[in-house]
Amino acid sequence: MKKIALIGSTGSIGTQTLEIVRNHPEEYKVVALACGRNLELLEAEMREFHPSFVSVGDEEGAASLRASTRDLGIPVGFGMSGLCEAAAYPDADVTVTAIVGMVGIQPTLAAIEAGKTIALANKETLVTAGHLVTKAAKERGVKILPVDSEHSAIFQSLQGNTGNRIARILLTASGGPFRGRTREELKQVKLADALKHPNWSMGQKITIDSATMVNKGLEVIEATWLFDVEPERIEVLVQPQSIIHSAVEYEDGAVIAQLGTPDMKLPIQYALTWPARVYLPGDRLDFTKLSAIELAQPDRKTFLGLDFAYRAAKEGGILPTAMNAANEYAVAHFLREEISFLDIYDWIEYAMDTASGSKEPSLEEILAEEKAVEERLKARFR
Ligand code: NAD
Ligand code: MG
Repeated sequence: MKKIALIGSTGSIGTQTLEIVRNHPEEYKVVALACGRNLELLEAEMREFHPSFVSVGDEEGAASLRASTRDLGIPVGFGMSGLCEAAAYPDADVTVTAIVGMVGIQPTLAAIEAGKTIALANKETLVTAGHLVTKAAKERGVKILPVDSEHSAIFQSLQGNTGNRIARILLTASGGPFRGRTREELKQVKLADALKHPNWSMGQKITIDSATMVNKGLEVIEATWLFDVEPERIEVLVQPQSIIHSAVEYEDGAVIAQLGTPDMKLPIQYALTWPARVYLPGDRLDFTKLSAIELAQPDRKTFLGLDFAYRAAKEGGILPTAMNAANEYAVAHFLREEISFLDIYDWIEYAMDTASGSKEPSLEEILAEEKAVEERLKARFR
């Protein structure tokens, strides 16, 4: 039986992870759960899965959850220390990082320190602290298994090819809800339009990131760390039907890809069952009914998220943190309808242009830059 700690249990990835656990009660046991503010759902999860420990965003939430779940007798933590305790819960074999944002850095590092296998959905952690996370995982002999669908596809395409050099990674993108629009047209788009992703139902932050293509940019950086490949060898291709989930090109020109219907449960489950594959209910690809699998170059002049990320990946140091922190801050404002869609790009660019720091920033420097970015953006734009 595999014991699971799940941080971000009430979100899109979190609830789909629990669906997999629900389908395989003999294989998996949830030992720790953590979320931010959705106490009602967390309580339902506690009643269904009986974890040994849970944690929530703040002290007030913890007090209220303790009161409503007194009959269960499950200890409730809160804040960063509770989150790290859940992520590194002694009983857990694997920690699923389904939390959103760079708030995931410290719990991920805590889980690695404690020797847990990491099933990583939380890309912002690798983007900002990839050098710290991969180093810690190597030192501790811990595996990081990708949950992000493209990275899972790349990982699947690498199976059986140990020792073979990756010539190129083909990272596919749906293009998001605004594919084909001009910059002029993007001036007027509303929050509700940006939240309508054509193929995937996901949390709000990543849905906006998909519309700006910042998500694909973050995924380029994520891939450099997961697969030890320079950004120049990662090519982004728009594949609007989201059927080719990504591919690896080898030295002999062979391209190996993973295809399937868009369903996050497959990459989540594969990160839990790897190297085995087990039955997963759901739609299957019917090639006879596919009208087309289109492929196109991304429009990098309109959707600036990719160029920001290539610049950040090449330069390294604190720049990926500046990019990511500015994006998190800007997207939070966009979700409250306080800024326009294109403002997100201006905020990120400004934060990157004004960033400075060491080549290999420490955890403290990364967290300090996150704060500093907010201060710089406040001073410049608010
Ligand atoms: P979401 O917004 O649906 O869920 C986020 C979860 O994190 C929630 O449970 C929330 O309560 C928790 N959380 C947020 N702030 C917290 C805090 N300070 N302390 C404790 N918990 C906190 O997000 P999501 O769409 O599930 O995405 C999660 C991560 O997975 C992101 O990094 C995203 O980029 C990545 N990802 C998601 C998908 C997807 O299909 N949703 C696909 C690929 C990658
Ligand atoms: Mg993805």
